[in-house]
Amino acid sequence: MSGRVVLVGAGPGDPGLLTVRGQRWLAVADVVVHDYLVHARLLDSVRADAEIVSVGRSHGERDRLTQEAIEALLIERARAGKLVVRLKNGDPFVFGRGGEEAVSLRDAGIPFEVVPGVTSAVAVPAYAGVPLTHRDHASVVTIATGHQAWTPGDGEPGVPVLPWEVLAHHGGTLVFLMAVRQLGGVLAALVAAGLDPATPAAIIERGTLGSQRTIVGTVATLVEEARAAGVVPPAVCVVGTVVGLRDRVRWFEDRPLFGRRVVVTRPREQAGELSRVLEEAGAEVLSFPTITIAPPADPEPLTRAAAEAGGYDWIVFTSSNGVRTFLAAFAELGRDVRELAGVRLAAIGPETAAELGRHLLRPAVVPREYRAEGLLDALAAEDLRGRRILLPRAAGARPILPDTLAARGATVDEVIAYRAVTPADADVSGMCAALTAGRVDAVTFTSSSTVRHFVELVGADGVRALGRAVVACIGPVTADTARDAGMSVAVCPDDYTAPALATALVEHFCKAARDRIRPEGR
Ligand code: SAH
Repeated sequence: MSGRVVLVGAGPGDPGLLTVRGQRWLAVADVVVHDYLVHARLLDSVRADAEIVSVGRSHGERDRLTQEAIEALLIERARAGKLVVRLKNGDPFVFGRGGEEAVSLRDAGIPFEVVPGVTSAVAVPAYAGVPLTHRDHASVVTIATGHQAWTPGDGEPGVPVLPWEVLAHHGGTLVFLMAVRQLGGVLAALVAAGLDPATPAAIIERGTLGSQRTIVGTVATLVEEARAAGVVPPAVCVVGTVVGLRDRVRWFEDRPLFGRRVVVTRPREQAGELSRVLEEAGAEVLSFPTITIAPPADPEPLTRAAAEAGGYDWIVFTSSNGVRTFLAAFAELGRDVRELAGVRLAAIGPETAAELGRHLLRPAVVPREYRAEGLLDALAAEDLRGRRILLPRAAGARPILPDTLAARGATVDEVIAYRAVTPADADVSGMCAALTAGRVDAVTFTSSSTVRHFVELVGADGVRALGRAVVACIGPVTADTARDAGMSVAVCPDDYTAPALATALVEHFCKAARDRIRPEGR
């Protein structure tokens, strides 16, 4: 297959603002070359064996690749026959130098496509409750740079050369990107050209993310207010009377987990749902997978069990990973799922049942309480004497299930379907720094092994640094493991599922907020 490059707009921050087409390309890319502003979670959907190249952290940083080096990299990888996704913040053709990259690809004879993105110029004001146009306020919008084009490392960028007279008099909305450093110069140039200094203006930092901050003032006051608040890039500045609509239109900053930073320790492949629910509630999700799923050290027992699966009375699944890995081994042998017609299936909870459902299989038993004890209760009415039970699950799981089933007279074959191992690429220093700086509001654990691997990764100091962060566990077994590790567990839902965990966390923070208000209010 001949190589090609796809310039994909990643959106401004919120991972939900990636387009469907962009996501499709990301999922099949051989190489992903991304900017520092691109949300880490977008990379979760990239193939595990894809090459991921981050081109620099922030403006002016020394390790940032030059534009020429980035273009050379795209061309080199495409010439090697790779499908390269160039993932760019916002929209690739809005102040993203995507135009330059497209021209050099064309010059080099490399085929390319463009996937437009949701630009920060529009989305960031929207998340701050500022519509760029409005019948009563603005019928024209200008999107402008806030600094003169310059080479990083080459002094300070200057105030841009723009038609200030036009901008000051067009009566619509002005949006400035990259305007933090030169904010004073930009606003002064507008006033000098005749704009009323009382015109409303706002600057929005880290827009569309849980850490979004919005500073509102006027053209005369905004610089001082932004300085006092310590605004740093990335930020979007909006000037115009539409800014006044924010009081009535704001929505994002009113969501229950807005401003909260929540760590998700689940394996990358399974983190999506929990992260999405938390983000919907306004949280900023810090993805810190403490586990990755690896094949068993010895694959033989799983293969043998899969080959003989049709001969069992029951197959008991205690995790969706168990379902996936067992059925993968079954499929690998070229077997047909109808061989399992006489086998009854049990699933420990709704997520495991849903995974079976994705393979068009329905469990006969799903307990009310989603843990080994609940599963045993659910099987209490069954006469298990002489029954053959297959238990494909993780290495190192609790013995209660096989022991109790055997005590009831069943023949239990426990096979290791997968191992939960610590990922080699975990950003341990980043997580420890966030914990130590008190920048983590909550940590979620969805299994005992996520707790154990978290402790292994961050160490005793990391656990101590959890400090006032809320520890949220999916169920009582996980909570016990967390307590044994020295954590104090504040949230544990009645229903042991990821959405219930997110909901319980929302309730916890809402209650904490009410408790804070009450002493003064009453
Ligand atoms: N192509 C991008 C813009 C790249 S220039 C787009 O279409 O959005 C980088 C500038 O975009 C930043 O300096 C900032 O002004 C703006 N920006 C990008 N993401 C942002 C965010 N999440 N919050 C605020 N500003 C953002």
